[in-house]
Formats: sequence, structure tokens, C-alpha cells
Amino acid sequence: MNCRKWTAAILAAGMFFTANFMTMGVAEMAEQREAVKIVQTAGRERLGNFAPDFARYNDDILFGEVWSKNDVLSLHDRSIVTVSALVASGVIDSSLKYHIESAKKNGVTKDEMVEIITQLGFYAGWPKAWAAFNMAKEVYAEETAEIKEGLTVEDIRRTSLFPVGGENVNYAQYFDGTSYLNMVSTEQVVLGNVTFEAGCRNHWHIHHASKGGGQILLVTAGRGWYQEWGKPAQELRPGDVVHIPAGVKHWHGAAKDSAFQHLAVEVPGEGTSNEWCEPVELAEYEKLK
Ligand code: MN
Repeated sequence: MNCRKWTAAILAAGMFFTANFMTMGVAEMAEQREAVKIVQTAGRERLGNFAPDFARYNDDILFGEVWSKNDVLSLHDRSIVTVSALVASGVIDSSLKYHIESAKKNGVTKDEMVEIITQLGFYAGWPKAWAAFNMAKEVYAEETAEIKEGLTVEDIRRTSLFPVGGENVNYAQYFDGTSYLNMVSTEQVVLGNVTFEAGCRNHWHIHHASKGGGQILLVTAGRGWYQEWGKPAQELRPGDVVHIPAGVKHWHGAAKDSAFQHLAVEVPGEGTSNEWCEPVELAEYEKLK
């Protein structure tokens, strides 16, 4: 179970409101299911003065005990039960939307949600399924957009203005992951079209020159990163332009979840050469979102 999924427990905890949960070792939880203690404060925040007992049952028992017993019944399954109960009861309001969002965060996939609501249509009533679908469609639309954003090399190949070319075998030793290179121009100004598969990036390197030189990156597809030594990485999107002065140690490459493409312009200069250094540390790259 990944980190994001457990972060989702925060939202699963709220009936209608926000909640917090105490974090535990994620790695341990992947090994054996341990209960994630749900800490809910919404009852007291909203109804603490008006209905203090109800607020206490909501925060301490429903969430503090029932939802927290997720070592026995997972948050994923509890979300399915909750969404089913709300739809069956005809509670098609913001609380249902909230619980569909929680279900998504608890790992209920779009395909699972479609099956759940379809089945509920037969057992709970057709109009309720229609209403629930309208909400689920909204919640899961966001995910569809996220997936679209993460391009594959094949997606880029289909839409690329300049040929993607073959595998970049000549420079493969300076890259982590697979990249593709097509020389767009080898006259006047040398210009290559570089395509990186998701997760691929080049090693730290320096474009040396005694005069002029350096590199310009023109981003044409996908999502990627550019980082100069000692500075935070910059996210790159199509249309971004990066001017890399000669002598500056840097790397560039794809995001973890999307292929990436840029044109790399070799800025003319005197005494130019490239120096390849160490790979980008995996732990540092992994931190980039
Ligand atoms: Mn470079």
C-alpha cells in the first residue's frame, strides 16, 4: 500500500468534514495490516456546543473506533460500504460526494466505482444510481485528466513535430533510463530532438566553452525537470525555454510519471566540450513531484 493511499485515510475519516490521522510507519503497514488510528475533530468543531454527546459519538466512536478498526476491514472496503449505504438510503448530497472522494483516495478505482453503482442501481433503485453516477463522474474526471497528462513515448511519437528517432545509444551511458535522439540540424546551429521515457534523465553534466557556448532547451512535449547544481529543480512543460550558460553543472529529464521531449540547441562557442559527471541521486529524483 503506497503513501498516497494512507494519506487518503485522512479524508476517509471525515463524515462531512476534515480530519487528521496519526501516521505510522508506511513500510511496516505494507508488510502486515495494522490499524490506522483515525483522529476526527469535525463533530466537536461543528456540534460540540450544540450536541456534545453526538459530537463525541461521531469523533470518538464512529471514527475513533469503528473507522479506526481498519486492520479488520480496510478503509477501501469501509468506503464501499459507506457509499453503498448512502446511495441505498437516498442520501445523494454533499456527504455522498465526500465519501466518493474518500473512496477514490482509499484506492477504489474508477472501474470498481462504476460496478458498485451499477449493482446499486438494481438493489437500491435506478434513479439513485443515476444521481450517484453524476457525482462519481465528477470525482473521477479529475483522475482521467491526471492520467492523460502522463504521456508515454508512443504518445509523443504520434504527435511530435520533429521525428523522435531511434534509441539514443551513443549517450546511453550518461542517462538513467531510455532516451531517443534525432538530430534536427547538424549545420549552422546543431540541434537535437531528445525524447525521454518516463523516469529517464541524464547525468549531471557541464557544457564547457571558453567563449559563448552553453545550451538552450525548448520543451515540446510531456513533463520534465531541469536542475542546476545547488538549486531546486524546475518543472518543465511544453513551451518552456531554458537557457543553460556554459560552465553550469546541471541535468534534465522526464518526470517520473510522464515521458518528456525537448529540442536541445547547442549554442555556438569557442573551445566547446561536454563533461559528464555523476548520475542524479535516485533519492533526490524520487522527491520530485
Ligand atoms: Mn545539458
